[in-house]
Amino acid sequence: MGTQFICPNCEYVYDEAKGDPREGWPPGTPFTDIDPDWTCPDCAVREQVDFVPIEEFEGNDQDGNVISAETRAKWQKKHAEREAAE
Ligand SMILES: [Zn+2]
Repeated sequence: MGTQFICPNCEYVYDEAKGDPREGWPPGTPFTDIDPDWTCPDCAVREQVDFVPIEEFEGNDQDGNVISAETRAKWQKKHAEREAAE
């Protein structure tokens, strides 16, 4: 069992339990072990540090396919606050 992280740009999901062997991450690789410079294999726009736990998106969209603009704005605000705190 592992945590899933989602790319806020294209919704690619990284599952810690499955890893992503084609990217060089064997099953069971914790997301925190992934290179911060690793870019999303689907959109190549977002990096490891931009991914967020999928739990944060649960319940926002009925079909689970679209991340609402509201959610994205909320996440971006949170992300900005986190960066400002560093
Ligand atoms: Zn992506």
